[in-house]
Amino acid sequence: MFNWQTAKIIDIQPVTEQTSIFKLEVLAATTINFIPGQFITFDLPISEKKTQRLKSYSIASHPHESNILELVIVKIDGGLGTEFLFDKEKCKVGTELKFRGPLGVFNLPKDLSMPHYFICTGTGVAPFRSMIKYIHASNIPYNELNLIFGTRTKADILYHDELQALSQEMDNFNYHIALSREEWNGKKGYVHALYQSLAPRNESVQFMLCGWRPMIDQARKELIALNYDKKQIHFELYG
Ligand SMILES: Cc1cc2nc3c(=O)[nH]c(=O)nc-3n(C[C@H](O)[C@H](O)[C@H](O)COP(=O)(O)OP(=O)(O)OC[C@H]3O[C@@H](n4cnc5c(N)ncnc54)[C@H](O)[C@@H]3O)c2cc1C
Repeated sequence: MFNWQTAKIIDIQPVTEQTSIFKLEVLAATTINFIPGQFITFDLPISEKKTQRLKSYSIASHPHESNILELVIVKIDGGLGTEFLFDKEKCKVGTELKFRGPLGVFNLPKDLSMPHYFICTGTGVAPFRSMIKYIHASNIPYNELNLIFGTRTKADILYHDELQALSQEMDNFNYHIALSREEWNGKKGYVHALYQSLAPRNESVQFMLCGWRPMIDQARKELIALNYDKKQIHFELYG
């Protein structure tokens, strides 16, 4: 049985046209323990049917001895859950939401002694932000970390300044962006060309993918075609 808890929204900050960062305080707890990469599941007051009410969100913050969780959520036009979460009347600072978790096995790997490629689109960056911040804050040893983030335009890049600063501070943490809909002085196109050109062709490299089905399906196909083993490919599918 899952334990349901209550969290109160303490801050909502729009960060792109369609995306906001939500901060929640878990009530009746002074700390919330989780493994970077895990998610929580809300039971939102949006439907009579329980299955339609359950909506999951990766925790974008890292464990740091507090009862505050950060989520980064994109609004889907016509989406039942996100229409509610982005409704300023129904969902605002002070609103209490029922949730269960943290849950999930898409976790910070225990063994970071080989190069890791974290590949994501949009809000799929959330679990990787949690992992990278935790590695940094806790001085966890690693071989090489590569974050490959794909989105449409410069204005859609999430946590850009912070990730750029971390990539300068942390040895062997490389941060790459691919923009599919805007010319800029960085890479143009999708994430696929980036990992294809950057990742070494060997057995030890590990890939972690997070985001929506089109990116995940294509990346898995491309990585298998490059002769990586299925055991090297881990993913969290948002929908
Ligand atoms: C483990 C897990 C973690 C997740 N973490 C996050 C997170 O951190 N941030 C976040 O924003 N979402 C996350 N999601 C997705 C989230 O749970 C919802 O599915 C999402 O918010 C849409 O819900 P909705 O009720 O608004 O839309 P729905 O009414 O459920 O769906 C509307 C339709 O749009 C499709 N759709 C939804 N989003 C997209 C998209 N971006 N691109 C293309 N098609 C889409 C759906 O497949 C569906 O057909 C996560 C999902 C899972 C399973």
